[in-house]
Amino acid sequence: MFKKIDHIAIAVKDIESAILFFKERYGLETTSQDTVGDTKAAFLPIGDTRLELVQAVTPEGVIAKHIEKKGEGIHHIAFEVEDVGSSLEKVKSDGVACIDKVPRKGAHDSMVAFLHPNSNYGILVELVQHHKKE
Ligand code: ZN
Repeated sequence: MFKKIDHIAIAVKDIESAILFFKERYGLETTSQDTVGDTKAAFLPIGDTRLELVQAVTPEGVIAKHIEKKGEGIHHIAFEVEDVGSSLEKVKSDGVACIDKVPRKGAHDSMVAFLHPNSNYGILVELVQHHKKE
């Protein structure tokens, strides 16, 4: 079902200083940024996968709440799938707890769906489909 690890997301309080940190410390370039809902995201390619830095736009944002509870650090792991709709249906029918009942819009016109950490060894899992099916 999974094609590859699409990205690993890190929750940060200040995305601009995190971008600077990963550039100066590790030479990683930020190639794109996007804001979806209450989350600001920056993508830093590494080989054929990416780091995603995520920051809350508002103090009530999901990322702000995550940082409040757990501090900064890994927020979710995203797996690329061919068809997020059918992948979501499949895991739902397998009994995996899903945060999204139907796929929703992610960064850069992707379609995404999040699966609950309780069903995934404590990891928040994101399914990503990059290109809409023709
Ligand atoms: Zn993500």
